[in-house]
Amino acid sequence: MSTRKPYVGGNWKMNTGRESGPALAREVASGAAQHRGCEVAVFPPFPFLLAVGEALGARDSGVKLGAQDCYFQPSGAFTGEVSIGMLQDCGVAVVLTGHSERRHVLGETDAIVNAKTKAVLAAGLECVLCIGELLEEREAGKTDDVNERQLRAGLAGVPSEQMARLTIAYEPVWAIGTGRVATAVDAQDVHRKIRVLLGSLYAPAVAGATRILYGGSLKASNASELLAQPDIDGGLVGGASLQAAEFLPIIAAAAARGG
Ligand code: PEP
Repeated sequence: MSTRKPYVGGNWKMNTGRESGPALAREVASGAAQHRGCEVAVFPPFPFLLAVGEALGARDSGVKLGAQDCYFQPSGAFTGEVSIGMLQDCGVAVVLTGHSERRHVLGETDAIVNAKTKAVLAAGLECVLCIGELLEEREAGKTDDVNERQLRAGLAGVPSEQMARLTIAYEPVWAIGTGRVATAVDAQDVHRKIRVLLGSLYAPAVAGATRILYGGSLKASNASELLAQPDIDGGLVGGASLQAAEFLPIIAAAAARGG
């Protein structure tokens, strides 16, 4: 059994509303309280952070409040952006960086992802750094190259002592929101390679302690098999995190793997 505590994040993307967001948070908080062996975070849209944070806090569930993005500058003329200090003011504990939709829909480069990752960690927050290949990259046999490039670039300049607050999410882009899911064997193989790569960038103990989550059409029906793999330490969940009845069994499956 690994010593890495299982971790499941719910990325709500641009979904939920002023009432439905806190309502979902309350349901997740109640259910997650039954599975303390799994760390849980939810990532609501920015406008609902405060209300969702209150809903989570009221349940004393241990569910962490997450942000889907941030800007790396502390303040200034950056219209539309949200600083890490503002997120901290709202009670955010963890921030996603490098999500594939930020990379491929909104054009974020490896350099921007790296700047955000470093700024989140320097501020003392936790970071979930997302990496993963496009379908055409997979079909061209470039999965490992893409992951290596994104991992090396994302972690450039991140000191070893900050790695305890860093989680990797491997999310093959072709599996995100498509209903197509990586097989457990394929996902495990990629996760193992990511851990080997971490071991070449940091000490073996850091590689062994860093959690690597799987993301891409994870749902209640496929979670147990994927989350039973030795190097898959939990999941980052999009669509299935929008309904507590679908999200909570994923948390239960992660908790069952132990850690
Ligand atoms: C995600 O947004 O990180 C994700 C994995 O989405 P989905 O679960 O919907 O594929």
